Parts: sequence; C-alpha cells; structure tokens
Amino acid sequence: MRDQAAGPRVLLKRLRELMAEALEPQERLDRIVREIAQQMVAEVCSLYVLRSDSVLELYATEGLNPGSVHLAQLRLGQGLVGTIAASARALNLTDAQQHPAFAYLPETGEEIYNSFLGVPVLRAGRTLGVLTVQNRTMRHYREDEIEALETTAMVIAEMIATGDLARLTRPGLELDLSRPASFNGLAFNDGVGLGHVVLHEPRVVVTNLFNEDSEEELGRLTESLDSLRLSIDDMLSRRDVAFEGEHRAVLEAYRMFAHDRGWVRRLEEAVRNGLTAEAAVEKVQSDMRARMQHMTDPYLRERMSDFDDLANRLLRQLLGRGPDGLGEALPRDAVVVARQMGAAELLDYPRDRVRGLVLEDGSITSHVVIVARAMGIPVAGQVKGVVSMAENGDAIIVDGEEGQVHLRPQSDVEAAFAEKVRFRARRQELYRELRDRPSNSKDGVHVDLLMNAGLAVDLPQLDESGAAGIGLFRTELQFMVAATFPRAEAQERLYRDVLDAAGPKPVTFRTIDIGGDKVLPYFKGALNEENPALGWRAIRLTLDRPGFLRTQLRALLKAAGGRELRLMLPMVTEIDEIVQARELLDREVRHLSRFAHHLPTKLKLGAMLEVPSLMWQLDELMAAVDFVSVGSNDLFQFITATDRGSALLSDRFDPLSAPFLRALKQIVDAGIRHKTAVTLCGELAGRPLSAMALIGLGFRSISMSPAAIGPVKAMLCELPVADLEACMADLLGHPNARHSVRSDLQAFAAQHGVPL
Ligand code: PEP
Ligand code: MG
Repeated sequence: MRDQAAGPRVLLKRLRELMAEALEPQERLDRIVREIAQQMVAEVCSLYVLRSDSVLELYATEGLNPGSVHLAQLRLGQGLVGTIAASARALNLTDAQQHPAFAYLPETGEEIYNSFLGVPVLRAGRTLGVLTVQNRTMRHYREDEIEALETTAMVIAEMIATGDLARLTRPGLELDLSRPASFNGLAFNDGVGLGHVVLHEPRVVVTNLFNEDSEEELGRLTESLDSLRLSIDDMLSRRDVAFEGEHRAVLEAYRMFAHDRGWVRRLEEAVRNGLTAEAAVEKVQSDMRARMQHMTDPYLRERMSDFDDLANRLLRQLLGRGPDGLGEALPRDAVVVARQMGAAELLDYPRDRVRGLVLEDGSITSHVVIVARAMGIPVAGQVKGVVSMAENGDAIIVDGEEGQVHLRPQSDVEAAFAEKVRFRARRQELYRELRDRPSNSKDGVHVDLLMNAGLAVDLPQLDESGAAGIGLFRTELQFMVAATFPRAEAQERLYRDVLDAAGPKPVTFRTIDIGGDKVLPYFKGALNEENPALGWRAIRLTLDRPGFLRTQLRALLKAAGGRELRLMLPMVTEIDEIVQARELLDREVRHLSRFAHHLPTKLKLGAMLEVPSLMWQLDELMAAVDFVSVGSNDLFQFITATDRGSALLSDRFDPLSAPFLRALKQIVDAGIRHKTAVTLCGELAGRPLSAMALIGLGFRSISMSPAAIGPVKAMLCELPVADLEACMADLLGHPNARHSVRSDLQAFAAQHGVPL
C-alpha cells in the first residue's frame, strides 16, 4: 500500500466522492472496484453479490475477465468466495490455489493470481456478498488492509440495502436481502396473522457513513460511551425491584461490555479509518454478529443479544434519540417483532392494528403472552434470530398454531396462509352460529362453558364468545400492567365494570395471585428465591401482608353491592389459609355494614386447587368452601415437578395420562360427595380433546380462554357423554392403564364423529 496510515482514509474519501456522483449503478460499481484495486495496489478487485437462490454472482471486477461479470457464479459454500459468505469470515491467503476450498472458474482467468484476501459484505449481521482482492505475488495482507477492505464492504452493503443494485439483477434472481426466511419457534397463542413487521425497538439505521474529521469523531464516540456507562451505572445504583435478580445480572453484563477494551478499540479503529462514530458501531456490531451467528452455545448467543442491545443504546446516544415509541405510521396489519416485551407495552399498541406478535424470547406463561391471549393475538415465541433478520415493513406471517414465522414469504406460502386464514374465519363463523345454542352434549348433558379474563379489554368477548360467565377473573393482571399500585378506587371501578358487563352471568374473581413469575415492578416481593413458583406468592403473600387483601376485598365487596359476589383464593395449601382469609372477609363485611354500605346479596368463597397437598384433604376442603376450581396449569406443574414455563419440558409429560386424570377424578368425586361445585380453569379446559377428557371424568363446568369456547362447544354438541364416561372408567380403571390415554380418546372421538 502506498501510504499505510492514510490508506483506508484515502480510499473512503474516494468512495464517498464516487457515491456522490450521478452514475449508473453498474458504472459506480466498476469504478469502486477499480479504486479499491488501485488504493490497495492489487491487480484484482471483485465483488460478488448473494442472490436469493444462494448463488454468489460476480457483479463487478477489476482485473478478472470483464466478460465474466454477471456470468461467473458460485454456490454458497463453494470455492473461497462461497466459503467466506457461508462462514461470514475473512480469508487471507498467500497461496490461494493451495486452499482446499479453491475452485477454479475458467471464465474469470484468475489462475495467474496467488495471494487472495476476501471479506464478507455484511449488514446487521447478514451476509449480502463478498469483496475480494488478489495479487500475483505471494503476499500476506496486513491487518490494516483487511480493515480497509471490511470498511469498504460496509459501504457496498449500504448500496445493496438501499436497493441501488436491484436494477442490475435479472428477473427471478432477486438479491438475498429480499430472501424469504422461515423460523421454527414455539406456539404461544393460537391464530394466524399476516401483515408487516413492526420492530418493537427499531434498529437505528445509519446513513451517514463518512466522517469529516476523525479526531472530532473520536471525541463524539468517547463522549457517548461515557454517557452510556453512566446511564448503566445509574440504573444499577437504583434500589428498584425492577433492577433486581435477572435484570441486575443483565445490567452487570452490559456494564462489563461497555468497558470491554477490545470492543472500544475496534470502534476507535473504525473511526480512525474514516467512518462516523455511528457507522463504526454498526460495522463492529455487524462483524461480531456475523462471526457469532454459527455459535450454538446458548450462553454466548445470549451475551450476543446483550451486546446488540448495548450497541443499539450507543447508536441512540450518538444520534440523540430516545427509545423509539410506536412510530407515527403503524401499519394497519402490524406484526410486532420484539426480543421480549412487557405486558403494558403491548397494550400501548392499538388493538385493531395488531395482527400478531413474534418474540425472540419469552415463555408461554410470560405476562405479555397472557395479555396477548386475552386480546386474541396470535403469538409465536422463542423465535431465535428473527429480530436481526426482520426489517420494518417486511411482509411476515405468524402462525401461532405451529409456532412458525415466515419472513418475506414467497407468494405460494402467502397464498397457503391466506387460505388458512379464510378457513379459520369460516370456522369462526360456524362457532358464532353455535354461540346461542345451549351447551349440551349430544345425549343432553349440560356443561357450563365459562371464560377466563383479567382486563377490561376482555369484556366484549363475554358476549361474542357466548360464554356462560367468567369462571376465572385474574385480578393480578390489573396490578401487573400498572406502573404503580392500583388505588382502591381503580380496583373497585374495574370490578364494577366487569360485573356490569356480565349482567346476570356469574363472575368468579380470584384474589391477587402475585409472586413467582408474576412480578410487580413496583413491589418488592421475595428477592432471589431459588424456586419462585414454590415461594412467597399468592395467598401466602397476601395473608402475610393483609393490607393488600383487605383493600382488594373491600373494593370487591363495594363493587358487588346489590348482587352476588364469588371470590376465590389462589395457591391454597392448607385449610387454615381459607379460614384466615374468611376472617379477613368477615371483618371487611362488618366494617362496610357499620358504615351502611350496600353489600352483596350473596357471598360465595371458593379455593383454587392447584397445590397437590389438598389432594389429601379433599373432604376438609370441600366442607370449608362454597366451590373449588382446579388450576390445572399449576396442579400439573407441581404433581409432575415440571416447570410450566420450560420450553425443554413442554411436551415431556402428558396431562392426559392415567395418574393425572385419576387425581382429577378424585376431585370431581369429592365434590359430588359434598355437593360442592367443582370447576376447572387451567389451559386443559380450552382444547377440545382435553376438555372432552374432563367431561368424561365428570366435570360439568370448565373455564377457558374466550377463543376456545367455540371449538369446545362444537365438540360438546356431538359428544355422547354416557359412552365417554364408560370408556374413561374402563381406561382409568384398568390395572395396566397405559400411561397416556390421548390416543384412546382420539380414537373414541373419531369413532363417534366428535370434532376435535
Ligand atoms: C392454573 O394454575 O391452572 C390457573 C388457572 O392459574 P394461573 O394460570 O393464573 O396460575
Ligand atoms: Mg395457578
């Protein structure tokens, strides 16, 4: 290189001039490769661009046969160029022909060159092409030359991303940027959504690439890094519960990265080479992401997303932007794509514009997913890699039934899904027709189909679904989506609205079930519990802090003045907890009547059965309450010692297995013995097959998400209950009962024409 130190700078300066000139795209590319060859004293410089069919096409060259432009091709992984693209790593070779991957393309005439340097053309961690230089002599390219070529590649990436090169592609051979991508995640909420990507935290797009004055730019970088570190320190010093536990660990990692000397050095180097500070952040991040994309170690991948977040924060600092909000122009068919997100943030989006939600992390029981389910939004979760692949405005399909996501889908995929949506709409139409039909089985057995709810947004569903009432109102959701403790008046208002909306239909309010995974950002619960699901939560917590429970009970009693109030206690482990809660309730009733408040006409107290210890106090339990509701999500989690949020274990044990079904049967039988009403309100109630099993065990009341009422009712209307009961008694009574009776039940349904 002529002038080693000035090399990258001079090259960038020339590129900047070329970008500013009014040139046709091909001519601009030709001049760029010529300029690079000249500046790097190389005989050859070539650019290969990755097409959507995974072929790298020669787009421009200085030094190779000009006739081979747009003709020479290599598959991804083929030859040196294909290897660079597939691995997203540079190759620096003194004698290229000795490399095992070397593939000779006769049309290019490259056999006379020995040394070879190739770098991937990257944008946001995606490989868009490969840029190479070659020399006849056997030489080794220096670090600063690699750096210069990488920086140039970044400029070319921008040209590809802005569509500059699209005009050079032949019809049917689009560039990789528009390549369809499919992801397999987990099904978090049923439904199919077609629409356009809205990145919840849009990546900051850097358009200003070249700096005017490197020293000044270094100053900007240092200043932004300093304030980034300060803001992290500030968050860490806040003694706020939101920053405890895992949040804290993430922040500690951020702090470590923000001081990472290797990172800072690479940023500074890129600025010295002529990039703006923001372009330097983008470049270093892109290189790093591309290098790490093949890593399988989940810990390191996780750290990569921390680095990504940090880089985004730094970009915002540099560009003086606060966290992006919803953006002015939210498409009418938004599919929100986020790494993870709080429940309240989802509620900020206008419901009528959100067609789906895609989460890179999350679990099926995370709050945002519970809220999305209540709002009827299809959700796919654990969709790894989607955030960095998606661009705002990309076409996207989320299939919450299968947990799949299709980004920039091909037209046949899109057509298939549009058909699926139409099919589902027709089915919904069918369910709507069933809405006003009594929920009776084929042989006339009545089963109450109730719905689960928790927020005001759920209320219209009560009429739309045809539910017989609300079997579980999760009062903690109001607390979870609020920024501070909801005041007594706000609680009372919500409960009153719920009862008004329900009219004559019964509503069962569950007292606040927080703790465990249901954290309130403003309330310091038990910190650092090893097993939060088994920890200080629900009734345990509210009996220890009776102020909570008393405020809530008073709000409920007032809201239900003049009508029936049904209350239910979560996570009951022993009967004494019910006794204590009843004492608190009686106290509140006495207090209100002393002040001549309008009291409920009827007061019913029930308990959730979700802790296995109650299985051995069933008689005492049934005698102590007015009704029991089985929380099958938790009961199954505790009986099988299986974390309900664990993706790894989600399919391991089947709730339709003899041991669990026998436990449920014991509960139903105890209810019958004591004439105590028994219902079930876990997710089991919402799937036609498992709902059928519950009815076969003797359940005559089940509560589910509103969207499930239609399919369950369609199943019930065709169900011969007496036959099913006999069949299940047989299956469960058999001394060698097979572990899962799922397939037997499917066979029963098929035989009797029961739609599942
Ligand atoms: C359950 O555990 O089954 C239940 C209905 O309660 P939640 O899902 O709110 O824990
Ligand atoms: Mg529960």
